[in-house]
Amino acid sequence: MDRVIVVGGGLAGVRAVEALRGRGYRGALTLVSAERHEPYDRPPLSKAVLAGETDDTTVDADWARLDCELLLGERATGLRLADAGGGTLATTAGELPFGGLVIATGATPVTLPGDGPQHVLRTIDEARDLRDRLVPGARVVIVGAGWIGAEVATTAAKKGCRVTVVEAADTPLANAVGPEIGALTAPWYAEAGVELRTGVKVAAVEPGGLALGDGTRIDADEIVVGVGVRPEVEWLAGSGLDVERGVVTDASFRTSAGGAPRPDVVAVGDCAAYWSHRYGRRLLVEHWDTALNAPEVAAAALLGEDAVYDAPPYFWSEQFGRMVQYAGQHARSERMLHRGDPADGKWAVAWLTGDRLDAILTVDRPRDLVQAKRVIAAGTPVDAALLADPAVPVRQA
Ligand code: FAD
Repeated sequence: MDRVIVVGGGLAGVRAVEALRGRGYRGALTLVSAERHEPYDRPPLSKAVLAGETDDTTVDADWARLDCELLLGERATGLRLADAGGGTLATTAGELPFGGLVIATGATPVTLPGDGPQHVLRTIDEARDLRDRLVPGARVVIVGAGWIGAEVATTAAKKGCRVTVVEAADTPLANAVGPEIGALTAPWYAEAGVELRTGVKVAAVEPGGLALGDGTRIDADEIVVGVGVRPEVEWLAGSGLDVERGVVTDASFRTSAGGAPRPDVVAVGDCAAYWSHRYGRRLLVEHWDTALNAPEVAAAALLGEDAVYDAPPYFWSEQFGRMVQYAGQHARSERMLHRGDPADGKWAVAWLTGDRLDAILTVDRPRDLVQAKRVIAAGTPVDAALLADPAVPVRQA
């Protein structure tokens, strides 16, 4: 393979470049990214950047040593695959032939209908713009009490804004962790001085406010929309690559076209729907940890090595002064058990199937998270009675 192109300059893109070089790839390497910035970290955008504590989250990569051509501010617009392998990438900088391709175009925030101004939070430019608008007394309305909504509410309230969060479900985080656990986080909003309105359907974003489904309106100086993201894959239309919600890949992040393997094209990070042997289905994981670690496997696969990614998904969120962490997958779990009393502030919830630990959510219990992650990864049995006792470390039975 004499020329590899990485499309997308997020964490997955830069890690793919590093992994390719680290594994001995010596051919030409180009990174094409729609953003004009060098790759940077996104988690601080809704935390330290919004709070004004840092302004720069650029990933520390030595581009000269990596011998990687950077095409920043350029967008891939289409892909033509050659039958014999490789192909041509259409970009705003022209047509680029490749022998191997890494697709790491991430995800794009979903926006709401309406002609009023709405903020989303995905890029450093968006974070800097919103940061400057979060001034004391500003009426900030956030749509969506998910991870991002809660983090923006935390920071906006700390900066003295008057914050309202509207959520369509009956509790925060209902989609992510279910209504029962989501409800345990609802009091955090009031404690921080944030008004939380659940069961609210938004009809449209209008200039100066939100029109609600019941015909009423909420006035706002700034409206922030945090209702989820969709994988950035539209540019692949017509390429022949198999795309469902994200780019379809096997457990090594190899793509396919019409069901036929394309080992010369891998997809990784937020844009990839990869096969998980652990869960027996495809996962679309929009977490930093996957963008950090999975490219090592994608790079190995592109270079023809045997490698499989099967780590349990891991995610964290810093909200209302608490560290919330989650590892595993609980969508198909049989039961849930509490570990510690939420009234005590530090607690966890575990999901099990039989005697296997499927997933854990911890609030200010980082040690539980680390221990549980190990047990989940190993798939070893646990003793449910001991697991429910917060004084006993999380370990296999
Ligand atoms: P991205 O970071 O989305 O990067 C994709 C890049 O590709 C972008 O630069 C984009 O401009 C570029 N691109 C897109 N289309 C094209 C194209 N056609 N041509 C060229 N380039 C293109 N995760 C956690 O686990 N914990 C957290 O606390 C957390 N906080 C977050 C806070 C915020 C505000 C955001 C936005 C995300 C957060 N995440 C968090 C999620 C985490 O940051 C993502 O999972 C991670 O950034 C995904 O990396 P990626 O490289 O796959 O995609």
